Amino acid sequence: MPELPEVENVKLSLEGLGAPGQQFAKVQLLSPALRTPLKKDLSKRLPGQKILCVRRRAKFLLFETENFWIVNHLGMTGSWRPLDNGDELIKHDHVVFEFGSGMKLVFNDPRRFGLMEMVDKQSLERHAWLKNLGPEPLEADFTGEYLFRVTRRLKSPIKNVIMDQKKVVGVGNIYASEALFRAGIKPTRPAGRLRREEADRLVERIREVLFLAIASGGSTIRDYKNSRGESGQFQNLFVVYDRLGQPCVNCGTKIRSRFLGGRNTYWCAKCQR
Ligand SMILES: [Zn+2]
Repeated sequence: MPELPEVENVKLSLEGLGAPGQQFAKVQLLSPALRTPLKKDLSKRLPGQKILCVRRRAKFLLFETENFWIVNHLGMTGSWRPLDNGDELIKHDHVVFEFGSGMKLVFNDPRRFGLMEMVDKQSLERHAWLKNLGPEPLEADFTGEYLFRVTRRLKSPIKNVIMDQKKVVGVGNIYASEALFRAGIKPTRPAGRLRREEADRLVERIREVLFLAIASGGSTIRDYKNSRGESGQFQNLFVVYDRLGQPCVNCGTKIRSRFLGGRNTYWCAKCQR
């Protein structure tokens, strides 16, 4: 499933393809529904609108136009690609953006867990998908002081807390394991027992892992590709994730694994306390 670094890379590749500045000529809805129904206002109200910018909030891609935001989630298998003249549409293509310049962008999603909706400019923050989200991990308001404050008296494991989108967005399963390893904190530690300096360190490590993953183009676990068809490389830099039974890169102890919050979790029992 695409996580924050992969969605950030899709955003960057859409920028690289020149999406900002394009004016909609036509929007084709090829199927009635993704995870929720595709509404006709996408095809009726977008023509004439210009894309001002592409942003990311948590794992949502946001296309800003003069009057609207298009809110898009890649779900499990969603992807964007340019459609050149002469290219055919393929199975699982759901939405085609056609621009005045002749450029076309296609949203493809075999498993249909993706989402696409448009909202009026001023209603974005109140949108059901966005309104309860915590701070962005790479922005200034996600600090050690913040993490320390929101974890006080919490008994749930720290890993579950940093994966809770209401506390901080976009720290997915892989990145949570990797950041906790680098911070020397055991994933099962009750969050309320995090010390202040550990909260500082964990915030730094979360940022470090996410920046590294973004710079590597994300992780390619199944078949993730950005909108230029490029795969990510961060899976080659995992130090703890998916390394059950292999020696810890710091101390040689065998990496352990268990389910935590329903997700595979990896750690070194010696380096992480
Ligand atoms: Zn170790």
